[in-house]
Amino acid sequence: MFGRLRWPMAAFAGPAPYCRCFIEHPDSVQACNCGEEFGIREWTWKRPELPSSWIHFANDDTQVTLHPYYSAGTAVVRGDTCFNRDFTYYWEVKIMTEPYGTDVMVGVGSENVDINDSLFSFRSFLGRNEESYGLSYTGAVCHGAQVTHDSPGFGWGTIVGVKVDMWHGTLEFFINRQGLGVSYVMLRKHQMLYPMVCSTAAQSVMRLIYASSWKASLLVTAGKILANSMRRSRYFPLLPPGLRNLLLEKFFLTLPSPLSELKIDGVARQPLFTGRRHFHRRW
Ligand SMILES: [Zn+2]
Repeated sequence: MFGRLRWPMAAFAGPAPYCRCFIEHPDSVQACNCGEEFGIREWTWKRPELPSSWIHFANDDTQVTLHPYYSAGTAVVRGDTCFNRDFTYYWEVKIMTEPYGTDVMVGVGSENVDINDSLFSFRSFLGRNEESYGLSYTGAVCHGAQVTHDSPGFGWGTIVGVKVDMWHGTLEFFINRQGLGVSYVMLRKHQMLYPMVCSTAAQSVMRLIYASSWKASLLVTAGKILANSMRRSRYFPLLPPGLRNLLLEKFFLTLPSPLSELKIDGVARQPLFTGRRHFHRRW
């Protein structure tokens, strides 16, 4: 599954799609709404100041097509809302087209990231310096021009999740709603952080399917603990509807990650996936 295919096929096939729509109905995946049951999108993608042919926006700016015609470099789009301190954010994108080429990435970047400076060069944009963090479709988890962790990566139909805890200052990626563990700490050193995606591949389509946040508080902590304890309990349906729906919408998979193995240099210690190499990374 993780082997490399020859060009012009996909350079890398990531995990299986989140749902079977991408296998059974590959010609109509635009109609797939699996994993979109909550309909929560607190922010959308930000349109550039000037009209751009690099990115096409659709579905109320929740779906973007990077390089809608052809690719001559790296297209980057960021969210229209920056992350506030003391809040935790969790957001997901569904990968609607097969990623290939130099890189397709999901991540976050600070206000110092110039999203236009690689329009005519092919780069692994997110994580190329200290100002951004990115998960590549190849599995590389990048920051500071280094591949700091490895992962299964993502492919056609994968749901990629990003959890940014601005209270603890941590960043964690998810693949098909399975957490990869905390990858980075000390994100509070950034004044402002934005969600970002980038691609060097022509006609890369990514759909924002969920974007939620909550402020750190004793009440939220109690809610997380309750959600965790009730997740598989037969008593869960007996909770008051309002509380039950709140737990489902906010904490369906974003429970606290163990912080016990964190390093202090800003990179969390994680077990690496084996056998993956990232030959073509271009910072
Ligand atoms: Zn589906």
